[in-house]
Amino acid sequence: MPIRTRFAPSPTGYLHIGGLRSALYSYFFARKHHGQFLLRIEDTDQNRYVPGSVENLIKVLAQVGVDYDEGPIINTDGSLGEKGEFGPYAQSGRLALYQEHVRILVEKGSAYYCFCSEERLETMHKELALAKLSPKYDRACLKLSPEEIQTKLAAGEKYVIRLQIPDGISEFDDLIRGHIKFNNADSDDPIILKSDGFPTYHLAVVVDDHFMNITHAFRGEEWLPSTPKHLILYKAFGWEIPKFAHLPQVLNKDKKKLSKRQGDVVVEDFLKKGYLPEALNNYMALCGFNPKADQEIYTQQEFIELFDIEKVNKAGAVFDVEKLNWMNSQYIHKLSVDDLTALCLPYVTEAGKTIEESLLKKICTVERERLVLLSDIVEKIDSYIKLPDYEAEILVWKKSSREEALVQLENTRTFIESQNEENLSSTELVEKVIRGYIESNGLQNGAVLWPLRAALSGSATSPSPFELIWVLGKDESLSRIKQAIEKLPSTPSSP
Ligand code: GLU
Repeated sequence: MPIRTRFAPSPTGYLHIGGLRSALYSYFFARKHHGQFLLRIEDTDQNRYVPGSVENLIKVLAQVGVDYDEGPIINTDGSLGEKGEFGPYAQSGRLALYQEHVRILVEKGSAYYCFCSEERLETMHKELALAKLSPKYDRACLKLSPEEIQTKLAAGEKYVIRLQIPDGISEFDDLIRGHIKFNNADSDDPIILKSDGFPTYHLAVVVDDHFMNITHAFRGEEWLPSTPKHLILYKAFGWEIPKFAHLPQVLNKDKKKLSKRQGDVVVEDFLKKGYLPEALNNYMALCGFNPKADQEIYTQQEFIELFDIEKVNKAGAVFDVEKLNWMNSQYIHKLSVDDLTALCLPYVTEAGKTIEESLLKKICTVERERLVLLSDIVEKIDSYIKLPDYEAEILVWKKSSREEALVQLENTRTFIESQNEENLSSTELVEKVIRGYIESNGLQNGAVLWPLRAALSGSATSPSPFELIWVLGKDESLSRIKQAIEKLPSTPSSP
């Protein structure tokens, strides 16, 4: 049987980075074993459904390059469609299948009708809490005779269906956590069909994983306590149980579960901020698994080849945004200038700034090494478009004086003025001529280059003066040097 894995998010409106990691591991595993990976929408909780979230999910998965073989798709006309032979791939489209299987369980005596009202359950839970007992359903409805059930049904009483948890032990071998045993007595009789006719997660996940031929179910560790219920359901149906891999939680720095309330957990937000999908995937994949101790940057293909579920950590993985930032900058450094320019342009436009593409391309060339996020470009372009206001002090090299800065700037200006455009047509050429000028005049590098760089950028930290001259061009460079010269005599004597 081919390996089949799935990513089964609930359409709550956004993709959590922990969800992205589950999707990646399922995807790597399926691709590594030449199996299939599918997307299933777990929308049985209609109260949590956020309109448009399925479309959003499909788009985000496409952006991060996680392609699935089966599941919901967006048609060319914008409507939702599906690909694959095991659909529908949204649980809300499979209600009849769940209801039929609930009937089977009731007939087998593995599940039962429960007509208890909310009020009764509440009172019962309160009493159990007072007696310091676990809030388990007391199985009052299990005692109902078939006639009593029929009478209640005929009277139109609201009901749910509960799974009867048998006595005994449920155990399985988790691919990450090893052998796990549960005492069934710790489990409540869970509701598997709600009064609105929708299944709960427990029933739907089992029915779907079975009918979609899922061989390996990867999911977050928070689902581990539900697994005994699922094992009991598989047994009740007489179905083969897929292999489970419960993935470690993604934690914040305080080692608590990373939640949306803490801000940065939404994949869409990371992408909007200017994280590259490849970097985000790389970082999230490493949250819990690193194939090689001495490597941190992996392509998707490498992850697929090297993925080994048995090497996924049991312990929670701490999400470290500094590390993610570092990784993103590494990916940005590797981009071609053309690609980087194309990726930066939307951020510039979005910020309401206008810039010639050729200038943006030059800026990207010299700033590439300094960008952590694509959106950083928005700030970077300002000083190229317009010289910022600055204090004359920044023009003075630490081993020098204002007078010397002034002399050097005046001489350098004359020298640059004498150069033809060809000599200034690349960073390397600019560097060559200016270094030649420094050498032939027996000058100190810092004495010339420091004031020049500060004059060109209006900042104490910036790319080299060679890069700046190339980006700004001869006229703008000369004008900026002139402005620096004008600043100097008007300031008090040397510091
Ligand atoms: N629907 C669950 C979620 O939203 C997935 C659980 C599973 O993969 O079994 O996380």
